[in-house]
This record gives sequence, C-alpha cells and structure tokens, in this order.
Amino acid sequence: MNIIHSSELFSQAQQLFPGGVNSPVRAFRSVGGQPLFIKRGQGPYLYDVDGNRLIDYVLSWGPLIVGHAHPAVLAALAEAASRGTSFGAPCELEIHLARLIQDFIPAMEMMRFVSSGTEATMTALRLARAFTGRSKIVKFEGCYHGHADMLLVKAGSGVATLGLPDSPGVPAGATADTLVAPYNDLDNLTGLFNQWPAQIAAVIVEPVAGNMGVVPPEPGFLQGLRRLTTEHGALLIFDEVLTGFRVSLGGAQGLYGIHPDLTTLGKVIGGGLPVGAYGGRREIMALVAPSGPMYQAGTLSGNPLTMAAGAATLQLLKAPGLWEAMDGQASRLCDGFAQAARRAGVQAVVQRVGTLFTTFFTPQPVRDWATARKADTTQYARFFQAMLENGVYLAPSQFEAGFLSTAHGDVEIEASINAAMNAFSRIKNG
Ligand SMILES: *Cc1c(COP(=O)(O)O)cnc(C)c1O
Repeated sequence: MNIIHSSELFSQAQQLFPGGVNSPVRAFRSVGGQPLFIKRGQGPYLYDVDGNRLIDYVLSWGPLIVGHAHPAVLAALAEAASRGTSFGAPCELEIHLARLIQDFIPAMEMMRFVSSGTEATMTALRLARAFTGRSKIVKFEGCYHGHADMLLVKAGSGVATLGLPDSPGVPAGATADTLVAPYNDLDNLTGLFNQWPAQIAAVIVEPVAGNMGVVPPEPGFLQGLRRLTTEHGALLIFDEVLTGFRVSLGGAQGLYGIHPDLTTLGKVIGGGLPVGAYGGRREIMALVAPSGPMYQAGTLSGNPLTMAAGAATLQLLKAPGLWEAMDGQASRLCDGFAQAARRAGVQAVVQRVGTLFTTFFTPQPVRDWATARKADTTQYARFFQAMLENGVYLAPSQFEAGFLSTAHGDVEIEASINAAMNAFSRIKNG
C-alpha cells in the first residue's frame, strides 16, 4: 500500500502536535505503522491522501451512523451555515434536536447540550453530587467516560479500592472520591455501598461497554445497578455517548428496559460535529443554572451547525426498517469474521451488540477488563495491518469498538468478510 503522502504529512504533524495527532489513539501506536491522512469520506468509504480507498468501520469513532458526507446532512449543514455559524443566543434548531432525541430516549425529560462527551459526563457527575449532597462516585474498570480528572481512573481490580490517577497531572485529590468496581460484578458494587453508606452520589456506567472493546452487560447486571442505586439513594447515570442510537435506536436503556436517572449522549447526536448532552429526570435537571444553582455553561453549546447535522442524522434514522437492515448487516459481518477465524484456526471471539462490535483475540468471551486485557494485542495488530492491506479500516487498537453505518451494503460486507478470511489465514501462517 502506497503511503508516501501520508508519511510526509505525518512528519510535519509530528513537529506540531504531540505524537503527530490531536487525539492519542489515532497515532497507531498500539498496532504499529503510522496513521493515514484522510482526504475525504463518502458513504462507507475513506479516501486517503495517497488515493487508497478503505471500507471504514471507525466512522469518526461512532458519530457517522449514516456514513460519510450524507447528502441530507450536508444540505442541513449548508442551509444552517448560510444563516450564520453561531449566535450565543437560543435558536429553534436546539428545540428541534432535543425533541428528536426525546422521541428515541424519553427518559431525557430535560437536557442540556454541550460540546463534547467529556463535558457531558463531567457535568452529569457534578449534578449528581449537587442533587444528592454526596461526594463519592463509582465507575467501572475498563469504562471510559471522557478525560475529566476525576474519571481518569481504572485502578484497583478485585477489591474496593480508592481510585489512584491513571495520568500524571491528575492530583490524587481529584480522584480521591472515585471508587472503581469491576464491570459485570454486582457483589463488588454491593460491597462499596456497604463500605460507604450514604456517601455515594452516583454510579456511572457504559451500559454496554465499548471502550475496552465491546463487552455486553450480563443478564441482571444493569437491573442490579438500578436496584442498588435506588436502595442506597444514589443516582444511576448511563453514559450512552457511545451506545446511544448504536446498540438500539433507544440506546442501551431502550434495549434492556432500564430507566436511568441521568443519561449522557454525544457522538451520533452531533451528526459528525462536536457535541455532547446530558439530561434526565426533570427534578434533577432543575438544579442546573440558571434554573438552579449548579453552574455549567458553554460558548458554542447548541450551535446551529451541530444542531442541524444532528437533527438531519436522527431524522434519517427514523426511516422504517433502516435499523433492522443495519443490524442485519452487522450480524452478517460478525458471523463472517467469526467463521473466518474458525476456518483459519485462529482463536478469536467476535462480540457484538447492535452496530458495535469487537474481534477479541482471546479463547474465551470477554466480560470485564481483567478478561479483556488477556487478549493477544500482537495478533490484533497483525489482523489490523492485514485488513488495512485488504482495504478495510478497523480501529487501530484491540480495545475499541468497530462501528457500522446505514451506508454499508452487501458489497462492503462481503468484501470485508473476504478480507478477514485472508487476514486470519495470514495470521495463522504468519
Ligand atoms: C467518546 C466517549 C466519551 C467522550 O466523548 P468526547 O466527545 O470524546 O469527549 C465519553 N463516554 C463514552 C462512553 C465515550 O465513548
């Protein structure tokens, strides 16, 4: 594969940006090689600066659920842009997008738009602390909720451990109230509630984990979270930044029938522009400034471009049968990958919920971070490179989700399965 122009640009970028990138996982560090510079996207395809065409299963890390450069999204953007890009004052498009979101996720009785998922989760936790008057929060090992200081913790498997920061620059004080529990482990969480009675403000969870690779909640796990938080007077926060509109159109809460107190969204609801949102029960949201005392603000929050692109995207998702078709393609793709691995004699497990999937190089299904980290990342790197050579762009890390869009048709699914057969046999014989 010719990557001459990408290489040239990457050397320039390395002078300007740490690691040559503006978000770490783009740098290909965990799969080797160097990132491709993208010139344009169209439907399910990426085109890089050297003219390579790739079937894209990253889709800007999830937002592009209707594919790249969808004409309806571009038209909505052009129309909005022609009237100005930001007002710092309310616009009707905010109401339009909020109502569309409510059609899919009715638990968001009130909401607030922000500009990233990081802001959404950070603020949802501030709000939970304001509402309960408590300080401690619980997160799960292997779950990512953006890069706010208090959430940069995954430490302490097994026992109830006070969080230690994962990153230099995060003071111990910032994570001192962050408790960490293993995913899919209700006993451990029960232990935390008993150890810190009446001190836990909220439990925040990726209701289908996507940021350690795709790990579904085991039967009863989410129900258990709902029961335990209610019993102990803590709020339940579903971080659906990734899962919203992707594990089902109603998110994980729709799929599993659980009603969280607060929900965070991002990615899909911005149609490819920067976005986040938090929302939930009206009495909780009433605490947010200016209706209440909990402060939160944003210069570009609810800007008309993001609102227009998001609304156009959600509108498209309402087409009858569209979700079922996309879910069906995801199922075909994952069955094809699993069968290709089996035929080649490579140990791999393909985990999927809706349009999110991960090929784990493990013999056993992955249920938490402890089992995820057993994956053979060297094999994943070889799989990734072989797929790239075969024209398929997967996430450049074992511990990320793959994404599908409504633009991926039979041709792309078939080509991807063929690429996987080739890639798995190369790994086996490699
Ligand atoms: C992507 C993601 C975030 C952070 O969103 P940004 O827009 O990147 O700040 C938070 N939570 C989850 C579950 C995510 O997948």
